[in-house]
Amino acid sequence: MSTDPAIELPYYHGSITRRDAERELVLADSVDGLFLLRQCMRSLGGYVLSLTYEEKFHHYPIEKHLNGTYSIVGSKPHCGPAELCEFLSREPDGLPCTLKKPCQRAADTPVKKGLFDSLRENMLREYVKQTWNLEEAEDIEQAVISHAPQLEKLMATTAHEKMAWYHGKISRQEGERRLYAGAKTDGKFLVRDSEAGTFALSMVYGKMVYHYRINHEKSGKYSIPEGTKFDTVWQLVQYLKMKPAGLMTNLGEECSNGMMAASSKTTISHLHFACFLWEYHGFVLLASATLKPSMSQSADSQLLPMDCSGFVNTYHDPKDLKKFFINRDQLVMDEVELGSGNFGCVKKGVLKTTEDDEKGQIDVAIKVLKNENESLVKDEMMREAEIMHQLSNAFIVRMLGLCQAESLMLVMEMASAGPLNKFLQSNKSTVSMEGIVRLMHQVSMGMKYLEEKNFVHRDLAARNVLLVNQNFAKISDFGLSKALGADDKYYKARTTGKWPLKWYAPECISFHKFSSKSDVWSFGVTMWEAFSYGGKPYRKMNGIQVCEYLKGGNRMECPSQCPEQMYMLMMKCWTYKHEDRPDFKQVEGSMRAYYYSICNKPQPGEEAAEPIK
Ligand code: ADP
Ligand code: MG
Repeated sequence: MSTDPAIELPYYHGSITRRDAERELVLADSVDGLFLLRQCMRSLGGYVLSLTYEEKFHHYPIEKHLNGTYSIVGSKPHCGPAELCEFLSREPDGLPCTLKKPCQRAADTPVKKGLFDSLRENMLREYVKQTWNLEEAEDIEQAVISHAPQLEKLMATTAHEKMAWYHGKISRQEGERRLYAGAKTDGKFLVRDSEAGTFALSMVYGKMVYHYRINHEKSGKYSIPEGTKFDTVWQLVQYLKMKPAGLMTNLGEECSNGMMAASSKTTISHLHFACFLWEYHGFVLLASATLKPSMSQSADSQLLPMDCSGFVNTYHDPKDLKKFFINRDQLVMDEVELGSGNFGCVKKGVLKTTEDDEKGQIDVAIKVLKNENESLVKDEMMREAEIMHQLSNAFIVRMLGLCQAESLMLVMEMASAGPLNKFLQSNKSTVSMEGIVRLMHQVSMGMKYLEEKNFVHRDLAARNVLLVNQNFAKISDFGLSKALGADDKYYKARTTGKWPLKWYAPECISFHKFSSKSDVWSFGVTMWEAFSYGGKPYRKMNGIQVCEYLKGGNRMECPSQCPEQMYMLMMKCWTYKHEDRPDFKQVEGSMRAYYYSICNKPQPGEEAAEPIK
């Protein structure tokens, strides 16, 4: 897990030493302009550019600034390491020559991880575990992977809540009382919530207490009026400890809130360590447009998957696994129909899991079989239920049970924002490209899980990706799915049926062979649908025409707003021969790398802040 924006660059070698870098350059043949990028061992988030010129090696540290830009010390800033290298391949900008030839990492060598990578991972894991009370390692893992960039920002913007100097909602008088208790040294301080809805800083100076308002601007930045602006409250405090910046004196002793619970101590020491690193090395987790503290986090569009009931592993109690059947009296069925098909319809409902209270009520979707249907259809639904029952992943719709009453009913958790294609068609203006990348990354995580468990979906399409909300996608509709035997590479269908041909790989149509690789093809089509905001693939063509079109080497064009890297991935998913097609492990890796890289870019229009020196 890494949010390193250089991770996908072929000439990025990760955390290797200067000596190793020079060895790589020699091995690759020492021509002028040969270069590689490596992680800076001294600064978190920074890099070093190593370059060969006139048979000598030159090493240039690249700093990451507060506003998310990168630059070689004293040179022009760029929005990412790739952009910086690209620029230097055109203009030397102070180097002895332009970058001419990338020294690439050997294909079988992974990017070497650094000390800080694992530190950051552990901090994120601990934060997720504590904030959302997650117990299962798998749940924590899924949460961290799918939301690392947002979590880092959230961690930074809420870090003050874990600090001893933060006293929360206390009055000005109470603040004074706490500061006057004990020694009244100059600079002793605390931060509290102010009546005006932002924060206030209270500080002792000359046996008096002074109060300063902390401004919280529309842009999300914090500042003491007229002073330097910061993305988080703790950065402001750290800064004021070093410079008075308009206050009577530097901040000194922390007036402790006395609330340091023993259990959260590890987090606090981590956070202090993190502040230290971030501050002195210029690596900063910023509150960006996606997670500004000024925006109410309860607003639906800001909800993280972990805030929803459907995130956690509902089967973590092994006893629950046995509860396959649900009693009819536990179910309340609504008249509202969510969707329908040949089998019958899907209705909204409520499942009562405990006797009385409201907490034990879960919103559910109930797939109801039409009564008149015969045993064939019933068998199909039983098979769908058996498959779903074996799956437990945050990005797959969970089955809660089967109910046999007036008809056979499959009870699933509710994904109330509905199918992805419809959602995108009607929310074009509010869903960003970044949002689509995030959702499709989640789909790739769910599919990677299916691949690992040896299940083939066989009906992956945007209509079968359901949304819990704008930030949370789940794969659904296991009506055609199959569990492969441990040694099987594919499922061979004996007969054809009502098949979604436009989503099917060539080997499905020609040889009726279905594997995770053919699901990868469908994932490519699903990506195309998503990036065209719910467009119809191969418009105006029928299934037969599509087969001919593909055989002729044609592929769908790039949707108008789709990022180039995402189109390249789609094209890889549409590799004709399944042997040469990537698997979901690779697809998820590429989706993740791209998703993290765009989250790390400064947001357009975000004003540049001065790096803390
Ligand atoms: P079909 O095999 O007919 O495609 P689906 O399982 O895809 O059946 O369900 C049909 C429709 O019912 C979906 O497109 C969706 O609108 C609705 N639906 C199904 N499951 C859920 C769910 N868990 N939450 C919300 N809506 C659902
Ligand atoms: Mg469907």
